[in-house]
Amino acid sequence: MTAVDVNLSGDRASTSGCEASDFTGFPDGNIALIQRGTCDFALKAANAAAEGASAVIIFNQGDVNPADDRFGVVNGTLGEAGSTIPVVGTSFAIGEQLAATEGLEMRVALETHEETVETFNVIADTAGRADRTVVVGAHLDSVAEGPGINDNGSGSAAILETAIQIAELGIEPTNRTRFAFWSGEEDGLIGSDYYVSQLSARDIKDHAVNLNFDMVASPNPVRFVYDGDGGAFGAEGPNGSDTVEDVFLAYFASQGLATAPTEFDGRSDYFGFIENGIPAGGLFTGAEGIKSQEEADVFGGTAGRPYDPCYHAACDTITNIDPVVLEQMADAIAHSTLTFAMTTSAVKGTAKGSGGKSTGDFAFKGNHSKR
Ligand SMILES: [Zn+2]
Repeated sequence: MTAVDVNLSGDRASTSGCEASDFTGFPDGNIALIQRGTCDFALKAANAAAEGASAVIIFNQGDVNPADDRFGVVNGTLGEAGSTIPVVGTSFAIGEQLAATEGLEMRVALETHEETVETFNVIADTAGRADRTVVVGAHLDSVAEGPGINDNGSGSAAILETAIQIAELGIEPTNRTRFAFWSGEEDGLIGSDYYVSQLSARDIKDHAVNLNFDMVASPNPVRFVYDGDGGAFGAEGPNGSDTVEDVFLAYFASQGLATAPTEFDGRSDYFGFIENGIPAGGLFTGAEGIKSQEEADVFGGTAGRPYDPCYHAACDTITNIDPVVLEQMADAIAHSTLTFAMTTSAVKGTAKGSGGKSTGDFAFKGNHSKR
């Protein structure tokens, strides 16, 4: 095993494996030990394979703080299938140990399974102007580890109830409102990416906005609104995403409810939309991140604990939701859906979808980190 340009001291800034030159003198056929940091895991693995590595171990970077997912076992993705060598992830502590062991001999044995399965998005449309289609989306699948009630039974149920109420109240939307129950989100945004991939340039222009609701009933919640204008995190959505954010902010303000921004980082089904210049926005009540004291002061709940301690776990059951925040979010979902369903002006003033693309540099593909 050979460590590749790792940095275990100071700030542990790492470009390990990102450049071919990192592998200068790399013994052919060795296992490459690579540190997380700077570039995508897929690039690190491809560089290692090209330089003759027989396998890759990617260990966590150990650079920020333990709460920030930089020390534990890497929960990564190579983005797509096709790596020619085995690639595994491990924690910073183990990586540090391996790197410090001179002349270490290792074997990497992987048992993997690859299978193609058929799956479906479920899509229901109202009548209304097709050239101003409003897509209200939530993913219907869960991870294999658990039933996925907060992630994402909560969002799916909330948009389903919104659709039912529109029908029961006899509301006739001005703009075609498309309720989309995405499949395959947890496997890499597969359903929503497929949907967007099937749109012609004309179809994209005919999409006014995408509203996305993924995890809206977390048991230790914060009322997060996607940072459409980039004001908090720098990565702004396509033109019009600021308008979507404003609709949510105005609504919560009218209810006397505090909110906090959450980064447009590509972590859910709006990704394909903002990549194609379609304005987007949505709500989120938190996943594996840790609630800060400041957040607990504003939103209640428990500081130092995850927003959702059962994120992607078997315990994400019907008891893993906060019914109060679910109600608040469901009302905001109904409000925003109706706002864009009924508006007679375009979301971004004069134009529609296909405006400027997102300025985001996406760190995620679905729920797995790309780098
Ligand atoms: Zn989700």
